[in-house]
Amino acid sequence: MELADKLAILADAAKYDVSCASSNAPSRSSQGKEGLGATRAMGVCHSFTPDGRCVALLKILLTNFCVYDCQYCVNRRSSNVPRARFRAEEVVQLTMDFYRRNYIEGLFLSSGIIRSPDYTMEQLVRIARSLREEHHFRGYIHLKTIPDADPLLIEAAGRHADRLSVNIELPTEAGIARLAPEKTVQTIRRAMGTIHGKIEERTAERRAPRFSPAGQSTQMIVGADDTDDKTILDTAENLYGHYKLKRVYYSAFSPIPDSPRSVPLAPAPLIREHRLYQADFLVRGYGFTVAELLPGRGNLALDVDPKLAWALTHREQFPVDLNRAELWLIARVPGIGVRNAQRIVALRRQREIRWDDLARMRCSMKKVQNFIITADHHPRTDTQSSECLKRTLAPTNQLALWPELVHA
Ligand code: SF4
Repeated sequence: MELADKLAILADAAKYDVSCASSNAPSRSSQGKEGLGATRAMGVCHSFTPDGRCVALLKILLTNFCVYDCQYCVNRRSSNVPRARFRAEEVVQLTMDFYRRNYIEGLFLSSGIIRSPDYTMEQLVRIARSLREEHHFRGYIHLKTIPDADPLLIEAAGRHADRLSVNIELPTEAGIARLAPEKTVQTIRRAMGTIHGKIEERTAERRAPRFSPAGQSTQMIVGADDTDDKTILDTAENLYGHYKLKRVYYSAFSPIPDSPRSVPLAPAPLIREHRLYQADFLVRGYGFTVAELLPGRGNLALDVDPKLAWALTHREQFPVDLNRAELWLIARVPGIGVRNAQRIVALRRQREIRWDDLARMRCSMKKVQNFIITADHHPRTDTQSSECLKRTLAPTNQLALWPELVHA
């Protein structure tokens, strides 16, 4: 098979994996060394789509042959799709060629499982090692880790990769047992634990070998089974807490050719994935807990973002006096982000906050007006019900603006 044909198959097969962002990667430098990809020297920056996906990586599978039969996966053993496999040298060559042509800033490499987890992981490590040691490639490398692989191989992967990821794929142990029978949550967590331990070791001891400096991430598929958002976010919160993951990525399930009956025929709405990203962001960046955003079982509202939804159900916390309130509460006001909350707190040390200050900070004035008090703005809080406010601030056009999010 021609290299171009392999590339077409294996790049397409990799598109279902969304766990590839190169944020938090320290820039590498070639100064004083031979090598390619010194991002600082070359002024290369990373490009992200609005939902945070990196777009400047060569994103491929080593192979889409797989001995496992995960029901949600297009590459499962029983799937009837064209198959291809790169040789390790071909991946190295492609990466170098694409990099030299300035098409990419790095490599995201995953693989179906061939022969055994160890054999597959060895191949991935071989590619990364060859890029780093033989070709002096100093661009970004993200390697997908095979959970059952020998921890020594995972260690070797971390020495060459900027980021490692272990996809948990399904948020519950029961879901994994039902839809990915060859995997276990224990081996997935053990691999995450190995990576976390090595990262901690490196943080504590600067002379320890370099290890996955951009941390680790994972991906969860949304809508492949009936797990609700509360469970998905609880799992994410648990993974962030236990393994200090940099990111959990959410991937709305999309039906695959010749789907088995065990998975849905309809795609999960992309707006659900979007709401999960928003909630995840609020937990990581705003100090919300999952229990605050979703006190009971169930899914996040699709018609209103989770921050506004929380404010509408906690009207007793508002309006927030921007000249007196603590930073964390100001950041919870719909229409004010963390950075603007910090600006407000800094500014009020010099003078009182006024309505126009918020306009200058480009806060969402329509959103904030019912939730704040400034020196010259005192909204009446008894005139509009939460339902009425919701209709004003999150009209159904939130969905109408992006119909593809609903119907994808
Ligand atoms: S192990 Fe990975 S590639 Fe293989 S079937 Fe499962 S999800 Fe797909």
